[in-house]
Amino acid sequence: TKTLADADPDVFKAIQGEMGRQKEQIELIASENIVSQAVLDAQGSVLTNKYAEGYPGRRYYGGCEFVDVTEDLARERAKKLFGAAFANVQPHSGAQANQAVFFTLLQPGDTFLGMDLACGGHLTHGSPANQSGKWFRPVTYKVREDTHLIDYDHVAEMAQKEKPKLILAGASAYSRHIDFKRFREIADSVGAYLMVDMAHYAGLVAGGAYPDPIPHAHVVTTTTHKTLRGPRGGMILSNDVELGKKINSAVFPGLQGGPLEHVIAAKAVAFGEALQPEFKLYAHQVVKNAQALAGVLVERGLAIVSGGTDSHLALVDLRPKGVTGKATEHELEKALMTCNKNGVPFDTAPFTVTSGVRLGTPAGTTRGFGEDEFKQIGHWIADVVSSMNGGDEADPAVVAGVAAQVRELTNRFPIYR
Ligand code: PLP
Repeated sequence: TKTLADADPDVFKAIQGEMGRQKEQIELIASENIVSQAVLDAQGSVLTNKYAEGYPGRRYYGGCEFVDVTEDLARERAKKLFGAAFANVQPHSGAQANQAVFFTLLQPGDTFLGMDLACGGHLTHGSPANQSGKWFRPVTYKVREDTHLIDYDHVAEMAQKEKPKLILAGASAYSRHIDFKRFREIADSVGAYLMVDMAHYAGLVAGGAYPDPIPHAHVVTTTTHKTLRGPRGGMILSNDVELGKKINSAVFPGLQGGPLEHVIAAKAVAFGEALQPEFKLYAHQVVKNAQALAGVLVERGLAIVSGGTDSHLALVDLRPKGVTGKATEHELEKALMTCNKNGVPFDTAPFTVTSGVRLGTPAGTTRGFGEDEFKQIGHWIADVVSSMNGGDEADPAVVAGVAAQVRELTNRFPIYR
């Protein structure tokens, strides 16, 4: 019955530190968000004690009547939110959701076609370091060098040439709309499955602010913690209920053991929130904010990959300012703005250095920032980057001035009161 503070002051102190960091800094990492107190409460609940291998109504353990309720709520709300006939809410993460689909649809050595990591694809889409690259034969499509947009004719050519069993659309650092209908036509032309990994866009899709992949894909995977603003986790959706049965077997017992029922309950809460009308406003505001931020950065002499954004993120090409992604990430953090270095398409800098940073608006929008605040943030970023003068360090006076203003802003938009 001891509180965490009494039982384990070391862990308690670190959590308090993280809470302070989240309150004080502007979170610009495009894959992060700020969940509601209700989501935190569900995840930090006694459901963590429960083993529930299997699915609602068909468990391998007794005492599952309450976790059956929460998992059913999560599945039904997910189906309603995305208009899908099938949902599996058990994947522990986005990576495991992708792995489960590969396990369902591919055999070791099979060819699949995904987006090049260097053009915005994800590690689990065929990186040589990842199981998807080691156990299968990934071939990749790139963005166009002149526009930074997906070249669908090139995707179709790659599909004809390589005859993949599966085509994967979706990315971690692609800010523009993806034409899922066109992807399906290409998949159909070579008899391939179309898998969409909408991890980054899921909240925007739910809110009607990004094209909907569900009607076009055989299967859709996602994380639940990015724009969708739920707990850290994964999910798989499909309109093909027969395929869904195979996916269920791939998740459990194929890859996972007991599902994280506390996380699944938190997913249910988050999906319930995303079904409210306010979430549509949120999703559209996220995009408007990203456009406002990108607009100011262009005005201030930075380049945005593809010239702008249709989504929650903007990929900044820092080469016009002669600074690296690594140094910029570091200097912005000193000014209390958190982001991540990110390669830009056809980047020649090493991936540990990069020529870009990825900026996202989901977390800031959750705490209430609108376009005015994001324009201001754009100016602060430009101030810090300009003061680096092509080197690795920003002017400490500029950093201190920006940090003071950031503190003032985050105080005005508190989280977890
Ligand atoms: N898919 C995409 C497109 C992602 O961007 C990510 C994470 O950033 C993942 C999958 C993996 O999700 P997780 O980190 O939950 O394994």
